[in-house]
Amino acid sequence: MKGSHSGQRSKPRPGGGGQESGNQPQPPQSDTPSGTPIEDDGGDDSIVTAAIEAVHPRLAGHGCLALVATPIGNLGDISPRALDWLRRADFIACEDSRVSGRLLQHYGIAKKLMAYHDHNADEVRPILMEHLQGGARIALISDAGTPLISDPGYKLVRAAAEAGIKVTALPGPSAPVMALILSGLPTDRFLFAGFLPVKSAARRQVAAELAAVPASLIFFETAPRLAESLADLAAVLGNRPAAVARELTKLYEEVRRGALDDLAAHYRDQGPPRGEIVLVIAPPSAETTIAFDLDAALAEALGRMSVKDAAASVAAASGLKRRVVYARALELARQADSERDSG
Ligand code: SAM
Repeated sequence: MKGSHSGQRSKPRPGGGGQESGNQPQPPQSDTPSGTPIEDDGGDDSIVTAAIEAVHPRLAGHGCLALVATPIGNLGDISPRALDWLRRADFIACEDSRVSGRLLQHYGIAKKLMAYHDHNADEVRPILMEHLQGGARIALISDAGTPLISDPGYKLVRAAAEAGIKVTALPGPSAPVMALILSGLPTDRFLFAGFLPVKSAARRQVAAELAAVPASLIFFETAPRLAESLADLAAVLGNRPAAVARELTKLYEEVRRGALDDLAAHYRDQGPPRGEIVLVIAPPSAETTIAFDLDAALAEALGRMSVKDAAASVAAASGLKRRVVYARALELARQADSERDSG
């Protein structure tokens, strides 16, 4: 739901790109840091080919885009079918060829890589499309986890689908889903909202927008901001049950469950934890919902100050946009005036 144009954060990437070679599916040059193309090892492709064509008979001779999930920590977490696809792809589109190069090396896969990330996607997508239309089988991976989940790719999927190219996915790890199922919180409905904003006011605004959603909420957050974010979420959503899932599938995997206030206090006292983090928050409930009630807060503030001051004070307390709060304050003040006049 959240995110930039392709649902991902921005981070510096190495340069990269590919060369076009007409309609023939010519894999592009590798963008490995050394500049040395990584060659396909040839391997035992015949068995793999037979296996994959048995699964996807319609793909033989046609371009195909495969979205391949990779581990989020533990290198054992990749399916045999995903590895088959990576071995069999004409080339692999990845976010950062250094990160993916290490991963592929671990699995003994030597394959040409093409960088596809936020900063080059608009230029590289047409090249990928040309290869796909020429019959190439391209695997798209991200640095870790399921591609397209706060990572690049949806525009490529859309372009491929619109061009009638087969798109398939090799499912596997994804941090938000793993955090959700470990949280002990309701799993029947959930809303994944990507990375929380960096600034407190923007975080509170996001929380206010999601306060009434009857679903577990899932966010990505960084360790240094964790305590402050938990406190902001508690202030706006109420003291709901929550879970902080950290270093999933890794040696120091940890899930800390508790009320938002307690978790905020824990990380404030202990200092920022190490590693990667997913936050899961329970849906609103009768016991825990003290979700920010804008009208009640404004009614109370309007009883003791001007519309302008009431709006400013409630906007500051809630993190909601001042102009939104001011518009509602004016409306409530007018309603109160007309009720007084008619009464
Ligand atoms: N596409 C990925 C997926 O499916 O998991 C998510 C990519 S997103 C750019 C990276 C964020 O996912 C991290 O900042 C962190 O919040 C979360 N994350 C990734 N791996 C994790 C792990 N092993 N444990 C906890 N959170 C993780």
